[in-house]
Amino acid sequence: MSVGAGPTGRLAPSPTGAQHVGNARTYLLAWLSIRRAGGRVILRIEDIDSPRVKAWAVEQAIEDLQWLGLDWDEGPGQEMSSAPYVQTARLAHYRDALEQLKQANQIYPCTCSRADVAAAASAPHVGQEGPVYPGTCAHRTPADAEALTGQAFSWRFRTDSQTVSFVDLVAGQQPCQLATELGDFVICKQDGTPAYQLAVVHDDHTMGVTEVLRGDDLIPSTFRQLALYDFFGWQPPQFAHVPLVVGEDGRRLAKRHGDTRLQTLRSAGVSPETLVGYLAHSCGLQPDARPVAAADLIASFDLERLPRTALTLTAAEVARWMKAG
Ligand code: GLU
Repeated sequence: MSVGAGPTGRLAPSPTGAQHVGNARTYLLAWLSIRRAGGRVILRIEDIDSPRVKAWAVEQAIEDLQWLGLDWDEGPGQEMSSAPYVQTARLAHYRDALEQLKQANQIYPCTCSRADVAAAASAPHVGQEGPVYPGTCAHRTPADAEALTGQAFSWRFRTDSQTVSFVDLVAGQQPCQLATELGDFVICKQDGTPAYQLAVVHDDHTMGVTEVLRGDDLIPSTFRQLALYDFFGWQPPQFAHVPLVVGEDGRRLAKRHGDTRLQTLRSAGVSPETLVGYLAHSCGLQPDARPVAAADLIASFDLERLPRTALTLTAAEVARWMKAG
């Protein structure tokens, strides 16, 4: 693939389990968008979410992506200037960033457990994002951490009352009043591991990522990440949040909907073209689900054609792939 002066994007699997059809659709779109523009694709392994990370899942995710027909210009085993590409090998970078946040009094040590936050919050059910942090520990400064010996604490980012907004390539204008809608958020976990929000912003910035295409379940995270970009004075990438794949009950694709792991489809003899053909049709890229290779979609790729609603995957469809091979 040619690497020009186009955008830089990334495929960023979390090896917390097997990759499924929903992940495949997002990876395909992220890859096509960059390849269409003649840009650079980075593969980054987001493995700091211990203890949920599974040792086998990294290799499997790489094989899944290769099977789908997606490639990358940089990544594990293809080291270039942005190496390393595995988050657990980048911890020192995140610690430096954390230091800067401490120096600026932008974060504070928080001794609240999840249960404490849930119990103290006035509106305990605000969707998937959990309750807004009630500010119990917000009076603290970084210096107070020294007095907390023997007590477990995380670090929280102090949000302010400004409205954060961005224009998403798919979802359009997205405003959020960070402090009241999402609240102060964890930036370093109790075990000392940097949280996803910090790692992803640091990586995207230092790797020169200019386009982030991912699932729309991450829109709330984007607001938090924009607050970090703002703090560090970094230019945020262009964001494109795509609708998720859901099961017949309308809920996000999961085990209860049957086995849609890419590994399972592969070992059942389903061809990547069968799956990619279905996904391409679902993204408005071809008039029907005829089998197609990912590379053959590059020339005519257009994100504008992507339906703005979730894709419902039926068990009958999966059975059809199994039959078609
Ligand atoms: N690693 C995340 C996931 O697999 C993606 C995070 C991102 O794209 O920012 O869900």
